[in-house]
Amino acid sequence: IIDNLSDLEKVAVLGHGDGYGTVYKVCHKKSSSIYALKVLRFDNNAASGVLQQAAREAEILKLVDSPYVIRCHGVFDSGAFMSADHNNEGGGDLCFVMEYMEGGSLHDVLRARQRLPENVISGMAKRVLEGLHYLHGMQIVHRDIKPSNLLINSRGQVKIADFGVSHLVAGALEVCDSYMGTYAYMSPERFDPERWGGDNAADGFAGDVWSLGLVVLQCHMGRFPLVGPGQKPDWATLMCVICFGERLEMPETASPELRSFIWRCLEKDWRKRATVDELLHHPFVNTTCCVSTDHELVNFVLPAD
Ligand code: ADP
Ligand code: MG
Repeated sequence: IIDNLSDLEKVAVLGHGDGYGTVYKVCHKKSSSIYALKVLRFDNNAASGVLQQAAREAEILKLVDSPYVIRCHGVFDSGAFMSADHNNEGGGDLCFVMEYMEGGSLHDVLRARQRLPENVISGMAKRVLEGLHYLHGMQIVHRDIKPSNLLINSRGQVKIADFGVSHLVAGALEVCDSYMGTYAYMSPERFDPERWGGDNAADGFAGDVWSLGLVVLQCHMGRFPLVGPGQKPDWATLMCVICFGERLEMPETASPELRSFIWRCLEKDWRKRATVDELLHHPFVNTTCCVSTDHELVNFVLPAD
């Protein structure tokens, strides 16, 4: 249990995200345990929507408890943050103490390995599906599934992290506009609700499935799939491909199971898209000889050196 931020010593910077955060590797001096500390820093001009979203990240992190989702051991605010009149204060910090994931993110793994073998992809996909199954059961839509938000540890566990734009589905639809992440993994109905939305699309569960499909395809192709090699996925190009483009052709190199899995995720019409529960029964993540074990995942991700 961590009861004071001053017990933690910064060891290294682990990452800067797209948002307001910096993540540090920290050491708990009394126990010598290693944790990750995410620090969100706000100046006094931060918009109230941004502060609200940060408070939501804290709320969700305190709520979740699953082996497939990053664990949070404490949330600290520097005083100014959560106070009722934070607009009048000089900004502040919001800090999350999280379990440390030695393998880094899937983004790091892809940078080092380019393409992943199918058994490793199916092992990862299965674990992410378990995480989404848990979150969706808790009425939480993640809304930012992408390689840099999927973390791996030295036990071969894969966990969903970064609830920076996540959303607790309440009875009434609540649209959150403080989106700061990338558009690259966004589903058609989130990109263009007028054309692709319709009844209840905005609850967004299907959007997480779309993003997972793109991540899986990227792991197989070794590059972001929606634009040409070396091309930058800018907003206009993405808009065209995601909302108006033909359905993607599946690479010949993929097995029929992998192709079918991705097809079911990248169905443009969210009503026809597979749900997480359907995908958990899909052969791609259930043919035992094809799904990597924790051990195989570790060996692949953290090669002995
Ligand atoms: P942001 O909301 O700014 O995107 P993230 O929570 O996604 O912040 O963290 C940014 C990066 O920091 C991640 O992509 C990952 O590389 C690293 N990181 C985050 N949390 C951890 C952790 N618990 N263990 C190891 N690395 C982490
Ligand atoms: Mg992130």
